[in-house]
Amino acid sequence: MENNKLRDEILELVWSLRERGTKSLGALIEGVRDSEASDVIRKMEKSGLVVIRNDEVELTEKGEARSRDLTRRHRLAERLFHDVLEVGMQESEETACEVEHFLSPSVTDSVCSFLGHPPTCPHGKPIPRGQCCSKYRNEVKPLVMQLKEFDVGARGRIVFIAPSENSRLERLASMGIVPGSVIRLKQKRPSFVLEIDETTLAIDGLIAEEIYVKEKR
Ligand SMILES: [Zn+2]
Ligand SMILES: [Zn+2]
Repeated sequence: MENNKLRDEILELVWSLRERGTKSLGALIEGVRDSEASDVIRKMEKSGLVVIRNDEVELTEKGEARSRDLTRRHRLAERLFHDVLEVGMQESEETACEVEHFLSPSVTDSVCSFLGHPPTCPHGKPIPRGQCCSKYRNEVKPLVMQLKEFDVGARGRIVFIAPSENSRLERLASMGIVPGSVIRLKQKRPSFVLEIDETTLAIDGLIAEEIYVKEKR
């Protein structure tokens, strides 16, 4: 693998290993599966991206920023391919690995806005937030949005659900609220009422924030 690309893959892996609670150098090298991993990690230490202490890898401020950025781009690209272009999970993941290297920061924020600032990737891992996520901007008309933002009367297809509690998915599924279902939003106040097939359902406003839909015309 080309060195810069390998360096980026390593930075991303440091991030996801840390999410799983480990900073072990051994686990990192094992995870990279590239004979040059150790060399590249040493170079990364020299260029101030990581610090290695007691066989643990720690990101420096510079490494942290780069790693966060790469992870964000990778996971957003996965959402784009998987949900919007409906490419299979494996292929989405592989394409994301390629695409993340050439998404500029402003394009990344546009993709994020377009996808309705998704909180997680299709594997359920958190997408690091960007500037676009806090500062509300209208420049990009989102393709995917929270059900909460949807217009009353509009029809849409559920793209994904990002529940704050996993137990919720099952309950929603039992009501037919699953990715792929076509819904019509009937009202927002006092509660959210939507129609799936011939069935009318009322859901909580908080849940309406966790359902992401794409308008269907
Ligand atoms: Zn993922
Ligand atoms: Zn965003």
